[in-house]
Amino acid sequence: MMTTEQWRAIQTNDATADGQFFYGVTSTGIFCRPSCHSRVPRHEHVQLFPTATAAMAAGFRPCKRCRPAGLAVTSASWVATIDDLIKTHYAEPLPLAKLAQLAHGAPSYLQHVYRAETGQTPLTTLKQVRLQQAQLLLLTTTLSSKVIAQKCGFQSSAYFSTCFKQQFGQTPRQYRLRQKG
Ligand SMILES: [Zn+2]
Repeated sequence: MMTTEQWRAIQTNDATADGQFFYGVTSTGIFCRPSCHSRVPRHEHVQLFPTATAAMAAGFRPCKRCRPAGLAVTSASWVATIDDLIKTHYAEPLPLAKLAQLAHGAPSYLQHVYRAETGQTPLTTLKQVRLQQAQLLLLTTTLSSKVIAQKCGFQSSAYFSTCFKQQFGQTPRQYRLRQKG
């Protein structure tokens, strides 16, 4: 349970509460010190832990900004966090600024670290995840291209079709027919 004081400490980035507890945010899988300057989470997404170890045991990853475990968060670990966020949020509009907010880092820094680690931008990965998910839906459902485009975070079915053809050399419809035939 979270007390009013603890919630206020999170909202005001109160450094005097550091060490007393840590908080994880269920929508991002990241945990922080109370003083962290990342965006204030929604109350219902907050889970408290007495120690950093307890937060990590519950599956949360340390925030790269406030380093709640006392250690620097490696680029590889941060990239794993970003990849998890992409896989969880790909169906929503996810511009770089939004992804950076979820991942607790500045957009340009996130892009820089991500590219250095993986050789591509996070938005390229996002598009790949969306296309993979679309492939799966084309093969395992009878949903129309239009609905699949929406479910996979593409702004329009025309844009979905263009991206799909660029990546796989055929349209979603051709892909579905050939795989099933
Ligand atoms: Zn933090």
